[in-house]
Amino acid sequence: MAIQNVKGTHDVLHDESKIYQKVESLAASIAETFAFKEVRVPVLEYSDLFVRGVGESSDIVRKEMYTFLDNGGRSNTLRPEFTAGIMRLLVQNKLLLTNELPVKSYYVGPVFRYERPQLGRYRQFNQFGVESVGHDSPYNDVEVITMAYVILQSLGLEDVTIKINTLGDEESRNNYREALKAFFAKHIGNMCSDCKERLVLNPLRILDCKVPGDQEIVKDAPKMSKYINEKSRDRFNKVLSALEELGIKYEIDDTLVRGLDYYSDTVFEFHYTSKAGKNYGAIGAGGHYDKLVKELGGPDLPGVGFSFGVERLVAVLKDDGLASLEDDEIDFYVMTLGEETRSYATKAALLLRVSGYSVDMCMDDVKLANMFKRAEKKRAKFALIIGEEEMNKREVVLKNLSSKEQLTIPFDELIEKVDTLFLNNEEE
Ligand code: AMP
Repeated sequence: MAIQNVKGTHDVLHDESKIYQKVESLAASIAETFAFKEVRVPVLEYSDLFVRGVGESSDIVRKEMYTFLDNGGRSNTLRPEFTAGIMRLLVQNKLLLTNELPVKSYYVGPVFRYERPQLGRYRQFNQFGVESVGHDSPYNDVEVITMAYVILQSLGLEDVTIKINTLGDEESRNNYREALKAFFAKHIGNMCSDCKERLVLNPLRILDCKVPGDQEIVKDAPKMSKYINEKSRDRFNKVLSALEELGIKYEIDDTLVRGLDYYSDTVFEFHYTSKAGKNYGAIGAGGHYDKLVKELGGPDLPGVGFSFGVERLVAVLKDDGLASLEDDEIDFYVMTLGEETRSYATKAALLLRVSGYSVDMCMDDVKLANMFKRAEKKRAKFALIIGEEEMNKREVVLKNLSSKEQLTIPFDELIEKVDTLFLNNEEE
């Protein structure tokens, strides 16, 4: 039996990978316009990084990490998210001590989580995201939310819902945590076993529980907004007014806590429902964090970031007809009449390729009529026909496949002639 891909992973075939390229390059170029630069962190990190960075009470660390001992007996983990790795990179390379703050980075690549696969949920998927680290102005939050919004708009996803909330600073969160503990202590007997653990590790996490019975109980839990102190309230109001000023609509959702332990103050999610009503959950999410850099051995500095699920962006673009899957055109299809001509034809193809033209070449002994059919299927603009006669005279026959015009050119004049033809085509 043929071997199948690992459950929860997926292949990206040629045409679809064009959409991935489009999403990733557009997001990167927009991040560059916000003065963010790319960083690349390893897929593999020591497990401690995520236990300390993502947080022991998070679902990711408790149930979803791909962790194994290497041959030297050290615990390694395939990254389940980027933020912790980027903080390690910033601290290890002392970038927060030697640069003007904030240090602004973007990233793209695969992450791994042992989750139950379902619509839009994989075990290996790709994230694109940014981190702006080292400076506490609320306008850094505004900057990254705005960037995410511009990326979604540029992809054509206009009807995005931005859900936003504040978790408050440490003092606000401590007060809220105590209130939640007191409330859930009365109900915990009727709640799921995960929530029983969450009550001890991090009661805020209970607000995220997806078990329907527990959700009913959560509805009556104390509201976070009551416990946010004045400083955090002011900070949040600045973020909201700046978004209003920019014309970016948002919904305040005070049940939004986010699945990672490190967030404080502003947290947000981007939601999109396709025109056919398919809901992929959050297509992106992020927030502000206070203690993460320090927790990982760096200076006591805050940061803010977001991350998009690339698979989910690709899925909604496809669903809503915003990504064309049409085959690409090629410039030339080289038609070779016999094995002896192929060495000479390869030279002509290479000359065109290094001059920037896309070229495919027929390696089969098939009839010329068949080659024309292939050229049409490949949406070639020109055919380059090379038989023994052309080879012996060091010439090529060039045929425009739409006008059907044909001419014979000396090999040495090929690029000059082709450049003029393409220039004229562009001008028409
Ligand atoms: P998170 O790091 O959990 O905040 O996730 C950021 C984004 O990654 C989410 O908004 C999703 O778009 C995407 N995402 C999270 N988990 C998965 C998954 N298992 N499969 C595909 N995309 C995911």
